[in-house]
Amino acid sequence: MKKEGKPVIDLQQTDEQVRNILGISNEQRVDFKNSEIAFGDRSNKDLRKMAWLFGLMNKHWLVGLGSKIGLAAVKLRLPFVKTAVKNTIFEQFCGGTTLLNAQPTIDRLYKKNILTILDYGAEGKETEEDFNLTMNETIRAIEFAATNKSAPMVSCKVTGLARFDLLEAMSTKLSLSDDERWEYKNVLKRLDAICHKAAKTADVSVLIDAEESWIQPAIDHMVNLLMRRYNTKRAVVYNTFQMYRTDRLEFLTHSYDAARKHQFILGAKLVRGAYMEKERARAAEKGYASPINPSKEATDDKYNTGLRFCLEHFEQIATINASHNANSCLLMADLIREKNIPRNHPHLMFCQLYGMSDNLTYNLAYHGYTSAKYVVYGSVWDVVPYLIRRASENTSVTGDMSREYSLVMKEMKRRGLHA
Ligand SMILES: Cc1cc2nc3c(=O)[nH]c(=O)nc-3n(C[C@H](O)[C@H](O)[C@H](O)COP(=O)(O)OP(=O)(O)OC[C@H]3O[C@@H](n4cnc5c(N)ncnc54)[C@H](O)[C@@H]3O)c2cc1C
Repeated sequence: MKKEGKPVIDLQQTDEQVRNILGISNEQRVDFKNSEIAFGDRSNKDLRKMAWLFGLMNKHWLVGLGSKIGLAAVKLRLPFVKTAVKNTIFEQFCGGTTLLNAQPTIDRLYKKNILTILDYGAEGKETEEDFNLTMNETIRAIEFAATNKSAPMVSCKVTGLARFDLLEAMSTKLSLSDDERWEYKNVLKRLDAICHKAAKTADVSVLIDAEESWIQPAIDHMVNLLMRRYNTKRAVVYNTFQMYRTDRLEFLTHSYDAARKHQFILGAKLVRGAYMEKERARAAEKGYASPINPSKEATDDKYNTGLRFCLEHFEQIATINASHNANSCLLMADLIREKNIPRNHPHLMFCQLYGMSDNLTYNLAYHGYTSAKYVVYGSVWDVVPYLIRRASENTSVTGDMSREYSLVMKEMKRRGLHA
């Protein structure tokens, strides 16, 4: 039980211990199993289509084959593949091909109290011209967000604005060549133009994604500069902390110390991390210690400890809990209640990807927590790599039903529908 004058939560405690200390019963908590709320804006026809799609994605061999065909089709620009992708997997995971096209999706989410984080899906660009196009598209998204209270944030990948090799050189070399320095200045100008535009609006923020560990020092360096410049009154810029890394909890506390010292709000989007296999393979190949935690349990532990740290300092840290993990979402909801922080406090947000974990987003929004979806938009060809990642995430190696498939099936059963 809560003791007078003592901190309620100690960062060493397990989640279960925290829940016991907080004295929160299961009945008082958000019920993520409520499929009626989760799929409240989906018709029977939508559900059948989702069941069919997630059923297909459950097949490991099919996703492997589909990924190869998808990548080949991008090169060959086969029109029939484009139509097939657009009417199936694109429709499930993307908002539309353009901002305007995504408006009906944004409106549908907003009717259920869910905000949109706009995510322009182009990846793997390599030329200065492409980088400028991505910058312009991101600025357009900020203009769009400024007039849409349903879409207050825009996400951004630095590899859409800079050459991967340049970011690696910045992260690993002691000094840059003259050409590299010129390129670096251009990247900083692009990022600054984006953040400056957001800072000029009343409430639009920019979330900078985290990427591979060997380019992340360059990203962190630039994002720290931008947070210091623009986060003096509100969190305009957010960095992303990948808690599957062994060193990120420490980095989070250092970032907080810097925010206190230089008097700015730390924008912290917490994720577990998306490049685990690539990270481990590279570390093994090059013979350095893997930067990834040794187990899933260790990652869960670091993630939840990071969340508790952010909530402990919520006035200085604006937190986005970007996760499909129900325990991590419950933990944050519990902490918000325990600390009596208003559920719509501007420094607290939950976020999932569009097309996934609707049981979390819709139920959290229903209970008044600030909840959002990352809504990817872009041309079908541009978003194929993103779609392949989503398909792989929802596939099954063991033959078990994926999380999404079983949720859809549960709601179909509740409605008395057959697949
Ligand atoms: C809104 C949103 C934004 C995102 N932005 C980013 C981003 O900017 N950068 C980025 O890298 N990712 C990003 N992600 C993806 C994220 O990092 C995760 O890959 C994904 O969300 C799955 O993790 P989870 O917390 O949802 O839950 P879970 O399904 O509980 O966790 C799966 C994750 O746990 C970790 N894990 C699994 N097995 C092990 C193991 N054996 N050892 C150690 N760790 C393990 C991995 O990170 C894996 O992805 C984002 C996700 C969301 C929802």
